[in-house]
Amino acid sequence: AMAVQAPCIQLNDGNTIPIVALGTGRGTAKESDSIDEVRQAVYWAIEAGYRHIDTAAVYQDEEQVGQGIAEAIANGLVTREELFVTTKLWNDKHARDKVVPALQESLKKLGLDYIDLYLIHFPIATKPDDSPDNIDYLETWQGMQDARQLGLARSIGVSNFNATQITRLVSNSYIRPVINQIEVNPTNTQEPLVAHCQSLGIAVMAYSPFGFVVSRGQTGAPPPRSDDPTLTALANKYRKSVGQILLRYLIDRGLIPIPKSTNKQRIAQNIDLFDFQLTFEEVAAINQFNKNHRVIDISDWKDYPNYPN
Ligand code: NDP
Repeated sequence: AMAVQAPCIQLNDGNTIPIVALGTGRGTAKESDSIDEVRQAVYWAIEAGYRHIDTAAVYQDEEQVGQGIAEAIANGLVTREELFVTTKLWNDKHARDKVVPALQESLKKLGLDYIDLYLIHFPIATKPDDSPDNIDYLETWQGMQDARQLGLARSIGVSNFNATQITRLVSNSYIRPVINQIEVNPTNTQEPLVAHCQSLGIAVMAYSPFGFVVSRGQTGAPPPRSDDPTLTALANKYRKSVGQILLRYLIDRGLIPIPKSTNKQRIAQNIDLFDFQLTFEEVAAINQFNKNHRVIDISDWKDYPNYPN
């Protein structure tokens, strides 16, 4: 298969970001899967043309991501400068003076000397035992700005922030976040939050892009499934898979999808999105599936300060 490059868009700090990222969080991994598959997936992704890899300290796979990147660079597939690597600060490192050391730890595991994008993973602060902590994310943001000033992170942003939190952060900080990474898929279309971020020049990365269209091992999950007539009609019309239709739907909304796959064929398929586009009406038809129903259940934290309702 030929390598396919995703286009880049410009962030509000002037840096550019490729609009498809490989997801490496393994929330959908099976018990039998080995962690080494992450190294292999990253390598296959770069081979297929991906230039953007998404990881996080909490995924405990930064070493494998780094190994995949190092192999690709060593084999001459790509240079460090051509890659865009995103990682995230975990909830128990929200004190200002913990942010830079946490990033340094991530960089060490990744084998990199800078990260392209560093995100606050959640607005919620916890102690290491996951009990609530009451550190304001405005304080955490000071630490993120420190990381950027030091050149350890070229761009900084957030994840899982709601509209109120985005507004409060923008109004009270020197550097505006470039990204809010949130869940977006057919049953959780997030139109108001996406519009709010975009109106402030904050680009949106869409996680869990396949939603419940792929099995999440949950019974009673809301439709659509992969045999849904609306989705299969679009797949037939464009000669693409239902998965590719869902990713293109996100791109056509101006979002940056983060498909996770460790399968070589699906990795290649998930970036082969740039020879077709959906019409306005087709995007609107997929929006109709919305039920504000999340795949990633964070309700264990619902009573914590700064829970993103
Ligand atoms: P996804 O929507 O990416 O779903 C992944 C599942 O879809 C896997 O089972 C994968 O299986 C399967 N799959 C991949 N490609 C296809 C395809 N073309 N057709 C059919 N099935 C396919 O969900 P995730 O929850 O993993 O989210 C993606 C990424 O987003 C994460 O890996 C992580 O990087 C990020 N994320 C961030 C969060 C945050 O809080 N900021 C929270 C959750 C995720 P297979 O591997 O076998 O192909």
